[in-house]
Amino acid sequence: MAIEDYEGDMKMCCRCSACKYIPLQMIRHSKFSDVCPSIARYNFHAYSGGGKLLIGREMLAKGFEYTDRFLHIVFNCLLCGACDVSCKYAMDMEVLLPISELRMKCVENGNTHPTFEKVINLLRSKGKMVEGEGKRSEWAEGLNIKDVRREKVEVYYHAGCLSSYNKEYHHIPRTVAKMLKEAGVNFGIAYEGEICCGGRAHEMGYREDFFNQAMKNVEIVKRSGARVIVTSCAHCYHAFKVLYDRYGFKEFEVLHITELLEKLIKEGRIKIRNSLALNVTYHDPCYLGRLGEAWIHFKGKKLPGIKFVFDPPKTYRRGAHGVYNPPREVLRMIPGLKIYEMERKKEYAWCCGAGGGVSESNPDFALWTAERRLEEAMETGATVIVTACPWCEQMLKKAVASRGVDLQVWDVVEVVERTI
Ligand code: SF4
Ligand code: SF4
Repeated sequence: MAIEDYEGDMKMCCRCSACKYIPLQMIRHSKFSDVCPSIARYNFHAYSGGGKLLIGREMLAKGFEYTDRFLHIVFNCLLCGACDVSCKYAMDMEVLLPISELRMKCVENGNTHPTFEKVINLLRSKGKMVEGEGKRSEWAEGLNIKDVRREKVEVYYHAGCLSSYNKEYHHIPRTVAKMLKEAGVNFGIAYEGEICCGGRAHEMGYREDFFNQAMKNVEIVKRSGARVIVTSCAHCYHAFKVLYDRYGFKEFEVLHITELLEKLIKEGRIKIRNSLALNVTYHDPCYLGRLGEAWIHFKGKKLPGIKFVFDPPKTYRRGAHGVYNPPREVLRMIPGLKIYEMERKKEYAWCCGAGGGVSESNPDFALWTAERRLEEAMETGATVIVTACPWCEQMLKKAVASRGVDLQVWDVVEVVERTI
């Protein structure tokens, strides 16, 4: 895969700007009509999805010039995929894939972002993408979870870097582990043997580092005997489910914890015992929602000629088949809890600001993006924003703190924990 493979897609861009907004039919209020944080913040066409395609097309034709402005445009994209979904509402062409390849091209040619370099060095030296002292498995202390390095299991639980190294998010894997135990799931973790899934390295443009992580993770899971990987992080889910499949590493079923929870509650293996009188709104993580849609292996060929047509016709990923219902179903099964949806939801959700490594490389832009989401959440009248990814939880909590508003941010598993 390379930017050259998407020349036809980039040439298809007609500069209609539909990638800047949710589809017209979905708009209920101009305030929440835009969908691309990059163009909304920097207000110049080059920052939009279509703008990046035009740049890629021109650079392919005339040669790549890595100016500061070009790199600013490339690295200040959340790779959230909202442009891709909006464009594909009417068009048959890839948008996010060439944008991602543009970043890969910069990195491969040594035009990296200094913050990304620092994070990737951490990955190469310590197998993690998040700063923080302490043991990776500190969150699991006292829980007596099976160690997949020594015991065979049916399910491998991967906690992920943020939940492991940031104590503020230890509650997510701890709660997951307690619930899986209660449900009698034969699961285990790799303790200090767990390593980063590689997903955020891929987002940052480091494909080779992603490959290294993927190969090592496949070995960990193979040795565990597990046929299923469960994760509570949207970025890990996207990596295991979509990227591992795309690049030929996927040999296992991949479930987000909300998918497993829905099943376990419906089977009566986890019992909701208490009601919860709570008004919540649900934030769809981009990497669980529109980007969590399964990869499609297309084997057709472009027909000769100027028309951009494939034989057989190409099936596009349009974001509609992400993990949207399991978290909502879990919340709906809690007596007393009411969900008030935001205007931009499911495949049209506004990013929390953590995507594409922007939370590390440009924290101001990431926070600005999260604050826009917070404003939308507040319009619903909910008192709790529920989400299903520690990265989203972190960004939304930062927005709450910066605005000083009285709103809680919880993970779905925390909501369930309060009822069992
Ligand atoms: S990327 Fe798609 S939606 Fe955006 S300007 Fe180009 S054709 Fe229009
Ligand atoms: S991936 Fe997200 S931030 Fe980047 S251009 Fe598309 S909508 Fe904008």
